[in-house]
Amino acid sequence: MTGIAQNLQAIGERLKAARGVTLLAVSKGQSVERIREAAAAGQKAFGENYVQEALAKMRAAEELRLPSLEWHLIGPLQSNKTRPAAESFSWVQTITSEKIARRLSEQRPEGLPPLNVLLQVNVSGEVTKSGIAPAEVEDLAEKVSVMPRLRLRGLMAIPEPGAPRERYREVKTLFEGMKAQFGFDTLSMGMSDDMELAIAEGATMVRVGTAIFGAREKAKNAA
Ligand SMILES: *Cc1c(COP(=O)(O)O)cnc(C)c1O
Repeated sequence: MTGIAQNLQAIGERLKAARGVTLLAVSKGQSVERIREAAAAGQKAFGENYVQEALAKMRAAEELRLPSLEWHLIGPLQSNKTRPAAESFSWVQTITSEKIARRLSEQRPEGLPPLNVLLQVNVSGEVTKSGIAPAEVEDLAEKVSVMPRLRLRGLMAIPEPGAPRERYREVKTLFEGMKAQFGFDTLSMGMSDDMELAIAEGATMVRVGTAIFGAREKAKNAA
């Protein structure tokens, strides 16, 4: 068994104990070879931060005839990149504006199922700039939930490193308060260093890079 397969198995067991938490393998800055290893070990869902880098890997994965993988965009999306994002991803976890959501809905090809989306909420205030304020989430959800080619699944958050438990709880409370109205089933929260805490506070999906693949080969910022 490779190191990647072992890491996946170890994390998979922890998630199974937590019941029904989905593992997103964050492959930004990792080679296609490492993605291939993870896919061979049964991993299906992969997260990428940059559209261009992701498209290159999707093509490479097809050329290698990897089993069909589910790609999630987890980095900020600019409006000039919505078309390739709408055409190639299964999920976009970083919706922060009506404008971006509308473009994705308009640009999602008819032949594909609706694009799964999460609203990115910022509970860390000034420490991190991405995401919308908790007070704005419901308003955006009302708009996004009726867009025809999108399927609003829930919320995504990146509590700042070392964030207190209350931050996680705040996201969870927001999520629970909107769940019934919008049919939410996904709370994406937790990375390599905080997945235990995030799961304890109600995450249904964790986004894990380093703990699966080891250190990233490069801090890529080219997209
Ligand atoms: C890079 C990244 C991750 C994974 O981080 P690790 O510490 O490598 O597990 C998760 N979520 C987002 C949004 C990221 O940018």
